[in-house]
Amino acid sequence: MMTAAVPASAPMSATVGLGDRAYDIVIGRGQLGSIGRRVAELKPGAKAAIVTDENVARHYLARTEAALTEAGVAAMHVAVPPGESSKSVASFERVCDALIAARIERGDIVVALGGGVVGDLAGFAAASVRRGLDFVQVPTSLLAQVDSSVGGKTGINSRYGKNLIGAFHQPRLVIADTALLDTLPPREFRAGYAEVAKHGLLGDADYFAWLEANWRDIFSGAPVRGANAAPRDHAVLRSIQIKAAVVARDERETGERALLNLGHTFGHAFEAAAGFSDKLLHGEAVAIGIACAFEFSARLGLLPQAEAERAIRHIASVGLPTHIRDVPAVKTNDDALMGLIGQDKKVKRGKLTFILVRGIGASFVANDVDPAQVRAFLAEKLS
Ligand code: NAD
Repeated sequence: MMTAAVPASAPMSATVGLGDRAYDIVIGRGQLGSIGRRVAELKPGAKAAIVTDENVARHYLARTEAALTEAGVAAMHVAVPPGESSKSVASFERVCDALIAARIERGDIVVALGGGVVGDLAGFAAASVRRGLDFVQVPTSLLAQVDSSVGGKTGINSRYGKNLIGAFHQPRLVIADTALLDTLPPREFRAGYAEVAKHGLLGDADYFAWLEANWRDIFSGAPVRGANAAPRDHAVLRSIQIKAAVVARDERETGERALLNLGHTFGHAFEAAAGFSDKLLHGEAVAIGIACAFEFSARLGLLPQAEAERAIRHIASVGLPTHIRDVPAVKTNDDALMGLIGQDKKVKRGKLTFILVRGIGASFVANDVDPAQVRAFLAEKLS
């Protein structure tokens, strides 16, 4: 099924400042139509291999192929089943084989057309095939537009946990066409919004206050307001700017980049407890994880309870889950959750690393969190 063509609004853009690997992020309604011209400019003579999932293919594959071929870029594609289960070794093998069979070479380009699952999978295949192919991210979910398509983390899941097999591999270009979000199921949009709220909560209190006032317009896709960008476009731009700035300062997560994991140490454990299934989407797990990070921080006396409640209230007001009891009941006792938290990558010498907060917009990396305090907190929340 093709959706009607959307006129291109003037694009907004951001840059990820990584020296000679810097890249642009183009944001705006209708920007998918510019992909052919942009790829042809970036890599004259390149062929394109589109990696997508079956849902996104139904909506946007024909349009993407047409935009590429009209600009003289030959295109092939491989589509995996939708969902987290495609971030697997089996799907990775399938995508790599498809790229190799289509003779995609170093001079060619991989196009990741989809949500975070496709971006992570296609990016990792691009990082691996022929020891590294260039790739372009065309994020089609809100989560992918504001988060996963920017920053170069690519990878797949292992039976031992999420994202344990992967590589840093930056894209050459990101095209965030906000019109593509019109077909995103509402539950997926909400889940992506958890990462939008996260960007305000971790480091920009003014942005968070703007989100509190404008979230309904972001969800409804309200149009431009006078000289201002449409609220949804503004939110995508602002979130990307926040993430891009952090990534430019700490590409390999040796320090500050860890702040982007606000809500994720708890969240990954919840996702694992729910079996990485659509019973609990990544963004939903992050929403509960952010609520836990704020409550746990308040419990440690780092910020007033009322401020934690303000953060949690906003997340709840958009319809996201905020309580551990919202995690589908798979092994959600504190022992099981502690085991899962202990398997997370953010554990060093028996101490846990969490992103905690001293207020809205004031997160920090805490490397020495006592597991006993986390266990007591979880036990209380589960009781
Ligand atoms: P997803 O890729 O599974 O997409 C969600 C669902 O929406 C899928 O069913 C997909 O087919 C569908 N969809 C996507 N775009 C659509 C559109 N425009 N219209 C209709 N349907 C559409 O999930 P996601 O939430 O985008 O991404 C989650 C993944 O991202 C997780 O695996 C997570 O680990 C990863 N992630 C990675 C990073 C990173 O830095 N690399 C950051 C955050 C999250």
